[in-house]
Amino acid sequence: MTGEASTCISSASFGGPSTPASTGRFPMINLHAWQEAAGRLHAISLVDYPLPPRPDETIDTLCGQRITLTRADFRVFPEYQPHKTTCWSCDGEWRRLEGLPPHPALTGSTS
Ligand SMILES: [Zn+2]
Repeated sequence: MTGEASTCISSASFGGPSTPASTGRFPMINLHAWQEAAGRLHAISLVDYPLPPRPDETIDTLCGQRITLTRADFRVFPEYQPHKTTCWSCDGEWRRLEGLPPHPALTGSTS
């Protein structure tokens, strides 16, 4: 028998590094939005809330809180209370969901 040894198909590096999570499903469209709630700046999913929430509406924030909005959370009302602090749990969740790098203020790297 003079059979030739079948050559293995060498799978060379194929395609390079894996691309990050699916992009382009909603190109150039934000998936989340900031919403002032309970004195802080929380983030909500635009999939769950395609329309801006209104006072007395209950929202589920990215950080897992369920907050009922008040007129103090909307700058269009005289009861509006400015100077909100950012909810970093929402910020981190937002970045995780959208594949963004962590906020520089959270990494604490001093390099
Ligand atoms: Zn939050």
